[in-house]
Amino acid sequence: MRVDVVTIFPDYLAPLELSLVGRARRDGLLDLRVHDLRDVTTDRHRTVDDTPFGGGAGMVMRPDVWGTALDGVIGEGPAVLLVPTPSGERLTQSMAQELAGAERIVIACGRYEGIDARVAEHYSAVPGVQVREVSIGDYVLNGGEVAALVVVEAVARLLPGVVGNPASLVEESHGEAGLLEYPVYTKPPVWAGLAVPEVLTSGHHGRVARWRRDQALARTAERRPDMLAALPPGDLDAEDRRV
Ligand code: SAM
Repeated sequence: MRVDVVTIFPDYLAPLELSLVGRARRDGLLDLRVHDLRDVTTDRHRTVDDTPFGGGAGMVMRPDVWGTALDGVIGEGPAVLLVPTPSGERLTQSMAQELAGAERIVIACGRYEGIDARVAEHYSAVPGVQVREVSIGDYVLNGGEVAALVVVEAVARLLPGVVGNPASLVEESHGEAGLLEYPVYTKPPVWAGLAVPEVLTSGHHGRVARWRRDQALARTAERRPDMLAALPPGDLDAEDRRV
C-alpha cells in the first residue's frame, strides 16, 4: 500500500518512523511519503490560506494551492483521498478494514478553519478518486496531522505482515465479534494484593474461552450498550444470554 500525507507540518508525521509502522516502511510493506504543502506555493511568503468568503473568524486553506499539490501526488490509478475533518464520517474499525484494502491513500491535512470545500467537491468528480471526509472523534483538533497518524496506524496494522502474530488481531475490541475485548493479565500471578482470575491459570481451554466471552459481553454491556444493542440476535447463544 502507498500512503501520501500532505501537510504544512511534515515533522508532525515523524512518529511514523517508529514502532510497527516504521518497521513496515523499512520492510517495504508500506510506502509512506510525506509532502510539504508549501512546496507548491509560488509567492515569497509561501501562502496556503486566505480570509473566508462571507466573513468570520480564522483563515481557510486555498483550493488552488491544494489542487496543485494533490494533482501532483494523486497521479494515475485508483486512490482514496482522505480528508480529516470533525464534520466527516466517524473512523471505525470497519472503515479501517476497508481502507486497508485500498492501493493508495492520499491524506490532506487541513489547518486553520479547514480546506476550501471545493477541494473535496472537485476530487469527488475525478475518475478513480474516492473522497472520504473522516472524523476521528467528536472533538476539534488544531490540524489533520494527528488524525493522519491515527488513520495510518489503524490501517497499517491490518496490512498482511505488519503485526507479527496475526492471531492477535482476531479477538480485539471492535472486531468481527462486535464486542469489546475481555480484560487481559500477565505475570506475576499476584500483584498489589490482586490475584489473576483463577480460571486463567486452570489450563482448561474451554473454561478460559467461556470466561473471556462472558467478560467481553459484560464489559460491552456496561461500557458500550450501543454495541451490544447493534449485535444481530443470532450472534448471541443461550450461554451468552445468561450474562
Ligand atoms: N472549523 C472546523 C470545524 O469546526 O469543523 C475545524 C477546523 S480544525 C481547527 C482544523 C483541522 O483539524 C481540520 O481541517 C481537520 O483537518 C483537523 N481536525 C480537527 N478535528 C478533527 C477531527 N475530530 N477529526 C479529524 N480531523 C480533525
